[in-house]
Amino acid sequence: MAASFLTDISALPRRPEVTVIGGGITGLATTFFLSRHGIRPLLVERLPALSMLASRRSGEGVRAQWEKRENIDIARASIAFYRDFAEVTGVSAGYRPLGYLYGARSAAGAARLRARVERQKAAGLDDVRYLTPSEMHALTPTLAEDVTGGAVRQADGVIEVDRVIEGYLKMMQADILVAADLQAIIPGPGGITLTINGETLETGHAILCTAARLPAQLQALGIALPLRLARSTIQYLQLDAVPPDHPAMVDADLGSFWRPHTGGARMTASFRSTLFLDRFTDDPEIDPDYLRSAIDSVAPLVPFWRAHQHEIRGGHLRSGSLLVTGDGGPLIGALPGQPRLWVNSGYGGHGLMASPEGARRLAAMVAGAAPDIPFAPERFLNGTPIVPEPMTVNLSSAP
Ligand SMILES: Cc1cc2nc3c(=O)[nH]c(=O)nc-3n(C[C@H](O)[C@H](O)[C@H](O)COP(=O)(O)OP(=O)(O)OC[C@H]3O[C@@H](n4cnc5c(N)ncnc54)[C@H](O)[C@@H]3O)c2cc1C
Repeated sequence: MAASFLTDISALPRRPEVTVIGGGITGLATTFFLSRHGIRPLLVERLPALSMLASRRSGEGVRAQWEKRENIDIARASIAFYRDFAEVTGVSAGYRPLGYLYGARSAAGAARLRARVERQKAAGLDDVRYLTPSEMHALTPTLAEDVTGGAVRQADGVIEVDRVIEGYLKMMQADILVAADLQAIIPGPGGITLTINGETLETGHAILCTAARLPAQLQALGIALPLRLARSTIQYLQLDAVPPDHPAMVDADLGSFWRPHTGGARMTASFRSTLFLDRFTDDPEIDPDYLRSAIDSVAPLVPFWRAHQHEIRGGHLRSGSLLVTGDGGPLIGALPGQPRLWVNSGYGGHGLMASPEGARRLAAMVAGAAPDIPFAPERFLNGTPIVPEPMTVNLSSAP
């Protein structure tokens, strides 16, 4: 049975046992997995349509190349879920294992990649490979002559978020309320009272999947966790000459990213250009000259871009807010001291590639399973040593 869209709270057939706040990809995944436990959640989204913020502004890249074991595990399980998505939902997730190829042009960069592959293998990522320059060129002839080394995991690649949303909606049993702004949360012993568009709703459990708005909601509840907002930008461009099956590329020296996309590519100038924001915004600023800086940062490793840049037929920019945690890992679990108030958020720049498994675990916890220790929000408050994930933005990289 598919999801039902309601027009207002009064149309709800019953008090929801579980209410999920936030209709981005994380909230949708959470609702989907809850409904697989026989729960019929209410999903509440502030905007008039689902997944209009970061979730529809991403590179749609999925990779298990991380350094920390828990991040490898959550991404690898999520990628396998997307691979098998059609069997579960009847809709393909558009997963294409293009491979994620990290390349270096400096001796130090190649040495760092080689050492990282060893650490990844020790952490359980058994299908990542270090590549010599000749192996790199054999894999991808577009690379610069002076490549010094690389790393690849072939099962990493891309998905299509529109198809994933379609599959979730088709298979979830849930009521969905859009243009519905959660304004207040009052936890009680037997349930949670929510204020939505000025109306009061009683629910058994509430799950916050609100990303950029989570810090303000936690502040109102008196809960302090190490969180910051950052922005990331992606350039979509149309260029017929882009090889459609080219691996997704990361320049390990410069931090740039690009991947093929139907009739062109998407690129991000440099992860180091991810900027921390000091105020809340759904629509961070974009640099009008972004295409030039993006080409400048991808062309050294892949000279194809310098040779073909004049053939670019068009494109557009998307920029979104990301919620970044102290260690770069998500928050999955009950909020400290609040057994009926849960969070599934803080995925930073990797919410598409990690949210299926994160949502599966969160739904199991709401249904009674034990907490997921590595991602429990408590980790920031109970003295657990915080080790940042080196391969993503985290608060150790904040100014
Ligand atoms: C440029 C860019 C490139 C990226 N590339 C990748 C990539 O290649 N791979 C990858 O895995 N990830 C990528 N990401 C990150 C990914 O997009 C995010 O991690 C993911 O979309 C987060 O999903 P979310 O559902 O948690 O948050 P969001 O998509 O931000 O959704 C949160 C939702 O909560 C709603 N909400 C908030 N407050 C309320 C309220 N009070 N009441 C009701 N609803 C509320 C919002 O309106 C919103 O719809 C990228 C992001 C950007 C910006």
